[in-house]
Amino acid sequence: MNAYATNASKTKVTALPGDGIGPEVMQATMTILKAANAPIEWETAEAGAEVFKKGLVTGVPRETLDSIARNGLALKSPLETPVGYGGKSANVTLRKHFELYANIRPVRELPGVTTPFSGRGIDMVIVRENVEDVYAGIEHMQTTTVAQCLKLMTAPGCERIIRAAFGLARAEGRHKVTTATKANIMKLTEGLMKRVSEKVAPEFADLKSDHIIIDNCAHQLVIAPEKFDVIVTSNMNGDIISDLAAGLVGGLGIAPSSNLGDRAAIFEAVHGSAPDIAGKGLANPTALLSAAIMLLRHISAFEVAEKVEQALFITLAEGKNLTGDLSPRGHGVGTAAFTDQVIANLGRTSNLPSRHYKKLELKSWPELTAHMEPGTRELVGIDVFLETDLGAEDLGKALEEVAQDTPFRLNGISNRGVQVYPSTGGQTFLVDHFAARFMLKAPIPLSQSTASGQPEISYLVQRIGAKFTWMHIEKLQRFDGKDAFERPQGEG
Ligand code: NAD
Repeated sequence: MNAYATNASKTKVTALPGDGIGPEVMQATMTILKAANAPIEWETAEAGAEVFKKGLVTGVPRETLDSIARNGLALKSPLETPVGYGGKSANVTLRKHFELYANIRPVRELPGVTTPFSGRGIDMVIVRENVEDVYAGIEHMQTTTVAQCLKLMTAPGCERIIRAAFGLARAEGRHKVTTATKANIMKLTEGLMKRVSEKVAPEFADLKSDHIIIDNCAHQLVIAPEKFDVIVTSNMNGDIISDLAAGLVGGLGIAPSSNLGDRAAIFEAVHGSAPDIAGKGLANPTALLSAAIMLLRHISAFEVAEKVEQALFITLAEGKNLTGDLSPRGHGVGTAAFTDQVIANLGRTSNLPSRHYKKLELKSWPELTAHMEPGTRELVGIDVFLETDLGAEDLGKALEEVAQDTPFRLNGISNRGVQVYPSTGGQTFLVDHFAARFMLKAPIPLSQSTASGQPEISYLVQRIGAKFTWMHIEKLQRFDGKDAFERPQGEG
């Protein structure tokens, strides 16, 4: 992927000290990396609270974006998301700006960090798709009582995250990739990720692969977490299970993560800015240091990464000079003493867990993904989403009448995805937002002209609009003879 900015034998990395305890854990991390002779040259840049306070709503100044773009790499401390001032989350700004589509969260039992799961040998990585899904934030109120959020998942978006997961499994000498989806319910969106995974998996014949339904995945993560190796999943699923998994090995306070894109990678601690202990010299730098270890491996500085990781593991295992969050009440030391202890342990080797890492090879994607025209494309109907206080029977009769003398027939009406007309006898609770499905009496081929189907749709929608408030329309298409839409619950 990237040719990183180098100066002699050093790689340039943008450092974002961030907010709260951020500057303290960044200083500790830089001190340890310097002592380990890590081949990094830092370029410090601003983001977060101070930037918001200057009135920049993105929280990330242009110079910082330029620095990350130039270097292709950043180590980021926590950034506060403003409440009551400023604008968007600076973290989200960075993720979207650099299209950091892969969020990598290692979940590993740490020596000396005792949890109810200690001794189980938990050692997995969760690969979360980071930019698509319901997190695109495409939301609309449909009526005053009905909110809608679009869940957009794309074939290229699924393919790049699935490839990242398989590539990561190879780079870390892992054996299995589990794709976790809700494909049983959301057959088109979540199902797309499952299908793409099944298509890509044979290219990685050296790795095992399987699929698990996401709710069972959450269950298995608690029942038998040691059986997972790499889990790849969509944005919202990943958001939830990566925090769940972090809880198994000691919580968010010690968890690192990376956010990878084609042209930039940002490494960070998962925890926040801990305003309650900020400025007191008490923060634990383990999470940011672990993120820096991921960064070192990302730039193929494997030996230094191993040296720092072993020193950290030995420090945690021996339990000497740990920060307050990892020590029995009242026995913790400050950030500086912990940092010194890690440095003192540099160069020591132990029998603590270590893996053989290789460079993570990620495919580069074109900025504009190729449009794939199906062999045949037909319009077979439309769904019209409308607002009314009529009951299902009255609405059904009214819409049957509207469809008369049009190329469409009313196929049925649903309310929140459940068919309510013709009645199935179900006990559906009705809200004022219905989807009326009209099927064309004769499908219209869509390939010959961009206008095909438009007059028919306009005529029907005009007739509906004369009697009802409609919110939006979805075309019902058939690609290569296959329906490109789902049926409401209860439709025969
Ligand atoms: P938090 O993670 O900052 O704090 C939760 C608790 O964990 C606190 O008691 C804190 O003292 C403790 N803690 C966290 N990190 C620690 C460390 N390294 N060493 C010792 N103790 C530690 O969560 P929060 O209070 O919900 O969030 C505070 C701010 O951080 C908010 O503005 C939030 O938006 C921001 N935040 C940023 C990120 C990020 O930049 N990636 C992530 C989460 C929260």
